[in-house]
Amino acid sequence: MRTKYIFVTGGVLSSVGKGIVTSSIGKMLQVRGYTVTAIKIDPYVNVDSGTMNPYMHGEVFVTEDGGETDLDLGWYERFLDMDLPKENNITTGQVYLTVIERERRGDYLGKCVQIIPHITDEIKARIRRVAEKSKADVVLVEVGGTVGDIEGLPFLEAIRQMRLEEGYENTLYVHVALVPILDVTGEMKTKPLQHSVNELRRIGIQPDIIVARCSKMINEEARAKIALFGTIPREAVFCSYTVPLVYQVPLILDEQGMGDYICRRLGLEARKPDWSRWQEFVNAYLNPLYEAKIALVGKYAGLVDSYVSMNEAFKHSGMALRTKVNIDYIEAEEFEESPGDIERLKDYDGIFVPYGFGSRGVEGKIMAIRFARENDVPFLGICFGFQLAVVEFARDVCGLKGAHTTEVDPETPHPVVDLMPEQRNLNRKGGTMRLGAHDIIIKEGTVLHRLYGSTAIRERHRHRWEVNPDYVPILEAKGLVFSATSPDGRRMEALELPDKFFFVASQFHAEFKSRPGKPSPLYTGFVKACLDRKAGKLRPELDQISVIRGRSRAREALVR
Ligand code: GLN
Repeated sequence: MRTKYIFVTGGVLSSVGKGIVTSSIGKMLQVRGYTVTAIKIDPYVNVDSGTMNPYMHGEVFVTEDGGETDLDLGWYERFLDMDLPKENNITTGQVYLTVIERERRGDYLGKCVQIIPHITDEIKARIRRVAEKSKADVVLVEVGGTVGDIEGLPFLEAIRQMRLEEGYENTLYVHVALVPILDVTGEMKTKPLQHSVNELRRIGIQPDIIVARCSKMINEEARAKIALFGTIPREAVFCSYTVPLVYQVPLILDEQGMGDYICRRLGLEARKPDWSRWQEFVNAYLNPLYEAKIALVGKYAGLVDSYVSMNEAFKHSGMALRTKVNIDYIEAEEFEESPGDIERLKDYDGIFVPYGFGSRGVEGKIMAIRFARENDVPFLGICFGFQLAVVEFARDVCGLKGAHTTEVDPETPHPVVDLMPEQRNLNRKGGTMRLGAHDIIIKEGTVLHRLYGSTAIRERHRHRWEVNPDYVPILEAKGLVFSATSPDGRRMEALELPDKFFFVASQFHAEFKSRPGKPSPLYTGFVKACLDRKAGKLRPELDQISVIRGRSRAREALVR
C-alpha cells in the first residue's frame, strides 16, 4: 500500500483546535488498526520553539530525542501514545537553513535559488522522509497558522503539489475553521469559514473535508451551507463542538462518521473501530469519585498553554485515581508583592511548582516551597521547581545565607544550583540545553522508588543549570535525600524529604511522557498524596500507584 497523506489546515483564526482534530484523526485510524504518524509544520522563522517565550507560543514540548518542539507534538504523543522524533516538527527556519547552507556549499551552482521549487522541494522532502522512516500507513500533516498568512504560503504550495505527485486517492485535505455563534441572535455564522475555504482555493487547494469548530453541534442549515459553498458533500462536513474533555473529540467526530468517511475516501479497508479503552479513560475522567485542589505557583500562569503537558499529566493521573484534579494558577510574583497572601495556600491539598526560567517570580516560588515544607503540605517541584526547592532548603535548613541558583544571582556566596560545566562556554542559545531523555538511577527505598517500582528509568529533560555537586554532602547532612541521579552519580535528578508527608521534586520533566492510561508515576503519586493528606492518613498510601503502573504496562503489552 502507498503511504496516505492527510493535510490539515486551519481557517478564520488560530487556536481553533487543529492540533486536537489532527490528533483525533490519527486516533480514529489507529483504533481501526492503521499505523499513523503526525507532523506539525510551523511557519515561523525560528528553527525550533526552544528560543521562544512560552507566553508567545505556549509550552515547548520536548521529545524523547531532545527536540524542542511545538506543543501540538505533545497532543499527538498523548492521543496516539507514541514517541515522535523531532523531525516531525518542521519550521520555516529549518527549511531555509538547509537550503541556504546548500546554496553556500555550491549545490545549486549556476542556479537562481527560489521559493518554488527549492524551498517547496525541501518541505516535501522533509515530509516524505518522516513518512519513510515511520513506515506509517497514514501520515498526518498539520499546517500551523491560518490560511491566508503570508508565512504559510510555501507550505500550502508544497502540500498542493503533493496531491499531483502522490495521487488523489492518497491525499486528503481537511480544513478546520471556526463557526461563531452570534450571541444576539444565536445564529451560527458560516461566512468566515466560507471565506477561508475561498482563500484555500485561491492557492489551489479544494478541501475534501471541512471540520466546523463551534461551541455547539452545528445545525442542518449551517451544514448545508458549508457543504454548498465548500463544494463538498454534506457527509464530508463534521463538527468539533466544545466538550468538557479534549480526549472526547475523536469520539464525537467518529460518531459523526468521520473515521469511516476518511477510510472510504482514501481507499482504506473499512474496519470496525475499537474505542473501548479510550472510552474507559474518558469515563473515568467524567465520573470522578474524589477531588484534589492543587495550587500551581508559576510565572506564566496567565497562559494555560504554557503548562499544557503538566495540566494533562494531572488529568491522566486523575483518570487513574478517579479524581478530579483542580488546578489554580497562581502568579508567584503575587506573594512577593503581598507576602501575607501566602496563607492562601492553606486552602490547597497540594502545592506544585513547575518549570521556569529567569528571575521573575523566583522569590515567590521559594516562599511557596517554604510554605509547603513548613506546613507539610504535599509538594511537587519540576525542573526549576526542583532547583528552587534546593535553594530554599539550603537557605532555611542548612543556614546558607544568600544561597541561590547562579541563573538568578551570579554573585551568590552559595551557588547551590549552578551552570553545568558543559554549559559554561556555550555562546549559542538554540538547542543547547540538556535536552531529551536520559537514563536515571533511583535510590532503593525512596518514595521515588515506590512510585516508579524500578531503579532504572528514563525521563525527559530541558535545563542548563543543575545541583552543584559540592553542596550535595551539606544538603544531605541536613536530611535532604537525593533520590535519583544520573548513572555516573554526578547529576542530581530528584530529591525528597523523608520526614514529610510528601515532598518530592525532580530535575526531569515527567509530564512529557504521561498519557491517558499511562499516567506519570510521579504526578500520580503526588495526587494520591494530596488525597491521602486530605483524608487525614498518617502516610500516603502509594501502593495503588504500583497497581496503576501494572495496568498501564499490561496495556502496553497488549498493544505490542
Ligand atoms: N531555568 C532552569 C535551567 O535552565 C530550569 C529549566 C526548567 O525549569 N525547564 O536549568
